[in-house]
Amino acid sequence: MATPFGAPRLISAEEQAVVERLLVVASKDAPSPALLDSVRFLIVRSECRCGCDAVFFEQPSRLGHRIAWGFGFICWGCPVELMLWAHGSTISFLELAPLTGKLARLPAPRSIRPLTRNFSKVRWPCTVPPPRSLIWLPGMP
Ligand SMILES: [Zn+2]
Repeated sequence: MATPFGAPRLISAEEQAVVERLLVVASKDAPSPALLDSVRFLIVRSECRCGCDAVFFEQPSRLGHRIAWGFGFICWGCPVELMLWAHGSTISFLELAPLTGKLARLPAPRSIRPLTRNFSKVRWPCTVPPPRSLIWLPGMP
């Protein structure tokens, strides 16, 4: 749940899995072992006010630049765009953007794929499934 002014907390297991997968499969440059190891220690400073699952690990004035860009699936046919930001070598922001008009939730980590072109204008109707090759579902290898 979004609690924008809540107390800082440790990254959740679900958030950690998404950030790690994004770094591994969708980084601009290969992530260093130190960066990957830093994920489990990230502190969530605030959550997005819109109610989505985006989380800030740094103040919004210290977001830095985008280091990973991908997309994943919340459910069959519900893609979400994912952007990971870092200030220097500190991960600062996990940004989510809905691609269906639904509220952006954390996707299944194994569904995450890199994005290489601008999908921000894409709106998949939620009833239309994405290509099978793009999605991982429970039970798939
Ligand atoms: Zn939001």
